[in-house]
Amino acid sequence: MDHDHVRDVDPAVADALEGELTRQEETLAMIASENHVSRAVLDAQGSALTNKYAEGYPGARYYGGCTYADEVEQLAIDRAQELFGAEHVNVQPHSGTQANQAVYFAMLEPGDKILSLDLTHGGHLSHGHPANFVGQFYEVEQYEVDTETGYIDYDQLERLATTFDPDIIVSGYSAYPREVEWERIQEVANDVDAYHLADIAHITGLVAAGVHSSPVGTADFVTGSTHKTIRAGRGGIVMTDEEYADDIDSAVFPGGQGGPLMHNIAGKAVGFGEALEPKFQTYAEQTVANAVALGESLTDHGFSLVSGGTDNHLVLVDLRPSHPDTTGGDAEEALEEAGIVLNGNTVPGETRSAFNPSGIRAGTPALTTRGFDEDDMREVADLIARVVDAPDDDSVIESVRSSVDELCAENPLYK
Ligand SMILES: *Cc1c(COP(=O)(O)O)cnc(C)c1O
Repeated sequence: MDHDHVRDVDPAVADALEGELTRQEETLAMIASENHVSRAVLDAQGSALTNKYAEGYPGARYYGGCTYADEVEQLAIDRAQELFGAEHVNVQPHSGTQANQAVYFAMLEPGDKILSLDLTHGGHLSHGHPANFVGQFYEVEQYEVDTETGYIDYDQLERLATTFDPDIIVSGYSAYPREVEWERIQEVANDVDAYHLADIAHITGLVAAGVHSSPVGTADFVTGSTHKTIRAGRGGIVMTDEEYADDIDSAVFPGGQGGPLMHNIAGKAVGFGEALEPKFQTYAEQTVANAVALGESLTDHGFSLVSGGTDNHLVLVDLRPSHPDTTGGDAEEALEEAGIVLNGNTVPGETRSAFNPSGIRAGTPALTTRGFDEDDMREVADLIARVVDAPDDDSVIESVRSSVDELCAENPLYK
């Protein structure tokens, strides 16, 4: 892949783009929310549709010249409907956060009540953190995971729903390694007459492939990101029943956004098309098998996993029992030096802070895209253990770095 046109006019940006490409080729991307899209998705996102204004929806635009914008958006919608079995899909949200914003804006008034998972327990900023507009415009109460088991504390969720009487309950998480019981949360929402928003940002691809149970048809609203476990390029999506279709569409545009990013919607169309192929099913299954192998192997190395393992694409390691003097930040930094890129993460019952947390989160979507299997994941777990056991030992970092180089060379990305 070259960036010749960029280089002709802007060598500084071309250098950075090539640097990033090389970084991705030569490191192990284990940030659980990241993936590598196909060349086809990259091309679609880099297409002339970036030039096009298409405010409105297919067949009802506020601008002329929308023939191909309409075609592309309709393809994205049709494919998403086929993938998820949703009655209504809006593919215009610029990101998962904007998708959530649209649901709140459509269904809530300022001051209404949101019940969601605490950020340090695996929730997301857009679920009501005080630093996000959601935490400032709405009244937020938060449930937690059981700090003993690491599983969602559904009983606490039910108690809080009864006492707090929320207008909407948010499920779906950023750092939760277990299957979510959508029906159980829906029952609680029904009991207190609240809407239920299931935010599948992380597991969009797993749900599309049927590897994780689907909240579509159960929850009132399902939102997702299109660049995490599904490889459709950066963006967001909202799914709902016909009943709420108009509310959601007008909350996305004109409620919260202007012109849709048509080039990104083209990426979504291509990525959803790829996800409809049988080999995506195999990919999603392998992603989970790889996470399970990674978790088991890390456990063998003495690491403590929140919830004891995983059902999905990520593991959350609590470093406190095994490495009480190493923070998630220390581990993240040493691992990056060795070419393994993941993030320090808060753990349930966090005793440090979000800036210097006690855990690390590691995901397998990107490595699985590169062709890594369970054996490779066991090797990666060995490498992670060597670094975290000796984060200040330069010779260890150097030797792990050369093993990472070999793994990357064996599994090239955009060659
Ligand atoms: C990643 C994520 C989002 C959306 O993130 P964007 O970066 O805005 O796409 C929303 N909810 C959860 C639970 C997430 O993990």
